[in-house]
Amino acid sequence: MKGARERWVRTGGVELCVAELGDPERPTVVLVHGYPDSKEVWSEVAVRLAGRFHVVLYDVRGHGRSTAPRPLRGGFTLAKLTDDFLAVVDAVSPDRPVHLVGHDWGSVQSWEFVTVGRTEGRIASFTSISGPSLDHFGHWIDARLKRPTPRRAGQLLGQGAKSWYVYLLHTPVLPELAWRGPLGKRWPKILERAERVPGGDYPTGSLPSDAAHGAWLYRDNVRARLRRPRPDAYAHAPVQLITPRQDAFLSERLYDDLDRWVPRLTRRTLPVKHWVPRTRPDQVAAWIDQFVTSVDGGRPAPAATGRHADRFAGQLVLVTGAGSGIGRATAIAFAEAGARIVAVDRDAEAAARTAELARLAGAAGAWAEPADVSDEQAMEVLAEKVHHQYGVLDVLVNNAGIGLAGSFLTTTTDDWRKVLDVNLWGVIHGCRLFGARMAERGQGGHIVTIASAAAYQPSRALPAYSTSKAAVLMLSECLRAELAPRGIGVTAVCPGFVNTGITATARFTGVDEAEELRRRRRSARLYGLRNYPPEKVATAVLDAVAADRAVVPVTPEAKAARLLSRFAPRLSRRIARVEPRL
Ligand code: NAP
Repeated sequence: MKGARERWVRTGGVELCVAELGDPERPTVVLVHGYPDSKEVWSEVAVRLAGRFHVVLYDVRGHGRSTAPRPLRGGFTLAKLTDDFLAVVDAVSPDRPVHLVGHDWGSVQSWEFVTVGRTEGRIASFTSISGPSLDHFGHWIDARLKRPTPRRAGQLLGQGAKSWYVYLLHTPVLPELAWRGPLGKRWPKILERAERVPGGDYPTGSLPSDAAHGAWLYRDNVRARLRRPRPDAYAHAPVQLITPRQDAFLSERLYDDLDRWVPRLTRRTLPVKHWVPRTRPDQVAAWIDQFVTSVDGGRPAPAATGRHADRFAGQLVLVTGAGSGIGRATAIAFAEAGARIVAVDRDAEAAARTAELARLAGAAGAWAEPADVSDEQAMEVLAEKVHHQYGVLDVLVNNAGIGLAGSFLTTTTDDWRKVLDVNLWGVIHGCRLFGARMAERGQGGHIVTIASAAAYQPSRALPAYSTSKAAVLMLSECLRAELAPRGIGVTAVCPGFVNTGITATARFTGVDEAEELRRRRRSARLYGLRNYPPEKVATAVLDAVAADRAVVPVTPEAKAARLLSRFAPRLSRRIARVEPRL
């Protein structure tokens, strides 16, 4: 692993390969890998945490570069794995408790560490991803066997079916032959296709022997523990549970009774598959950072409260034009749902204020990035920085836009250029630069464009603005068709009259400055009287993304205009002829 310092820790007849990153004076975070993996599964998360923490990873015995116990049988019991963990912790953080993070079997064994007496005082917190405690699992099965209501029996059968590979791993020799043969060769491709794990330098060359040795993790522990789960497996440190909702191996229901075992439990969910440290390193690192910081600060971890917390918590959301109006309200609504927010606006101060408000609203991280969406080069620089510093977006909201009113004959080419540059080209740049990376990542995502009811309701007073918005609506529809096979949804949100600052900055053509100012004031007053709040548009945006809707008119007049354009186009054209009196 790049930049890591390595050392060896001897314990119980094996030598463990331990890697460290970051400043040892900072809080220590120990990352424990699962099956069939080595510590490299954590490399993407580790580098993201290294700036703020002392990060420690080790190859579990028999995996990666750590040596294997002899004989193998009986060499992988949870008691021995706990000895290893304590030996590593004694070496890397002798005086302070560590923050423990486990994925898959790394989490299964970490549950043991955090629930046995001899580690008390050595663990400050535990983040568990995709790996239940075998004791809790045993009690979960018992409870369902004792009272098998149809729902509970269904849960039992559901998890039983997901555990097919556990039965196979208990057969002698076969798993070893498969892993050292064809399965070991095909595994990287299987991970890429079925689990959407990006290719590259993971998994490492040690995979066949990791997988063969790791079979003993199951054989040495699973049956015995599930039959006789410990009655006192209570966690002695706060636990953050991250549950991927599309895990092919573990049912979400497994954690239903967890509050009974964990007095201080923070739950997070993610709409992804099993290999979260590889597919969502930004999100995982952000949650670990937030949890560790809150535990060390003696505060409870901030919990997302918004209606869509389940859907958006931890997701990376970028909103353009976030310095005011609909953009700011949307950024805050995503923040309330626990998302990580990048607030983009050409007004740096306004963007910074939105980021601050987002943090106060519960964002799992919020940053301000000044940029003009109509400036292609600036957008390229922005995309590069965002991808490098915060990761690939889960949701992009192309919101930045400007108003332009006045007849076609009074609209200059310069006026056209300005409105198309921001309202259309801004959206094109956003979709191209951020959408491409979303598609490349292969984990889905969502793109929102804030169009307008003017996209489908013609008006003699808004030819340029309406044209820009109609183009945005069509772009959204085309993009939706193109990106659907990649699991990326595209939504065009079409508000009517919303009480924001857009009227105060809109350009009115064909009139002198004094008249333009008067019209701005008058339209601001009318929008104020209409008083439809941008927060309601923000709610519509989150609802639309959650439900993956294609076109969403917001406000009653936008809905009415949509119906007219589809079912009474002649009436719609009549309305277009009405000259607004400003
Ligand atoms: P707003 O209050 O004026 O907010 C727009 C924000 O975008 C402002 O902070 C603005 O900054 C920023 N912005 C403008 N041009 C930009 C650029 N080139 N690069 C980066 N940021 C830029 O307006 P809003 O009503 O919330 O509008 C948001 C979106 O909703 C727009 O696309 C608009 O067309 C659409 N919409 C609004 C209504 C409505 O009734 N309000 C109706 C339908 C659709 P500055 O303040 O510096 O200009």
